[in-house]
Amino acid sequence: MNSPPSTVETRLLATAEQLAGGNNSLPPAPWVHPHLEQGVVPVKGRQLRASHAIRKGELLLVDVPYAVIPVVDDPASSDSLLCSSPACSRPTQRSSGRIACPKHCIADVVWCSPACQEFDEVRHRFECTWLQRYATPVRAKWGEYDFGMLWLIVRILASRQGELHHAVGHVDQTNPRFQGGWDAIQAFCGSTESWSHAQIRSWTALVKKYLRSGPALLHDLTADEIVALICREEANSFGLYPRETGVFPVPEPAVDRGDQYGAAVYPRAAIANHSCCPNIMHKPDHQGRMVFTASRDIAAGEECCISYFDLTKRVDLKSRRDHLQGLFRFVCGCDRCTAEEPSDAESDWVGLPFVE
Ligand SMILES: [Zn+2]
Ligand SMILES: [Zn+2]
Ligand SMILES: [Zn+2]
Repeated sequence: MNSPPSTVETRLLATAEQLAGGNNSLPPAPWVHPHLEQGVVPVKGRQLRASHAIRKGELLLVDVPYAVIPVVDDPASSDSLLCSSPACSRPTQRSSGRIACPKHCIADVVWCSPACQEFDEVRHRFECTWLQRYATPVRAKWGEYDFGMLWLIVRILASRQGELHHAVGHVDQTNPRFQGGWDAIQAFCGSTESWSHAQIRSWTALVKKYLRSGPALLHDLTADEIVALICREEANSFGLYPRETGVFPVPEPAVDRGDQYGAAVYPRAAIANHSCCPNIMHKPDHQGRMVFTASRDIAAGEECCISYFDLTKRVDLKSRRDHLQGLFRFVCGCDRCTAEEPSDAESDWVGLPFVE
């Protein structure tokens, strides 16, 4: 007989059930809870805040990616390779007759159906020549991480191109309180000043070599503008994982979020700041839409935060702070980090040179 599910399992199952319902159980995206608002505070900049009380379990945000890429080790054998059509973005099974690019750009580009391929034709044309020319050399010379970053930037440029072409996306009719489209991407936090000179030099070299406007990649941005875009993308993109991120307190035994299968940029979800004791848990649905759910009751005026990493993987104060400083360029001052800081007396003692 099965043992009864733990609290976390019940919660995961409930969320999974809600998400599995797909279009029927989620409101049309992008969707923002009526009690969720944006604020601006010194140092941190933008934040999400509750304008009125929000109850545990309430859906807070469903956001649609501006750009998304699959992240899998071996596309041919993967059952979680995402359909390239932005309107779909569903994981495709290798046995399901998925369609490869007729120009054989890269094996990571597939569509789940002829309809998705047709819908995505113009957008994919924007990236196909670039992928054919640069995917193999970038992967060989710079590795998978930098390739993924550059590809995500190319897909952001493709969305921007589509937006300019159709002159849409500037005004978000669904929710005028939250900007969408390229304007939202431009408003992301993160500038060249937040990163080391060595990092900026490395990204500048990549941009000059692989992302210049030319026959393989048509855009009207300067190299400096693309480097600035990378700075914002790196500070604001989300990894896509099969299970929730940010369940807190971390249950015992801990359930990690699983293996990454994608990376994406979300115009609205990116506004959420980090906390190591967050009141929001987040998880992409089966179409790559980012879903925020209140993981406890939230009081009016309280900031609404997510966790930028898997809380089951980094537990102590030092590993959390080192990770956030390295990847997101800030020293975490959340309630949990502040409470766990050694007192002044202790840290003075630790800081003293050892004298025999
Ligand atoms: Zn599809
Ligand atoms: Zn192609
Ligand atoms: Zn913290």
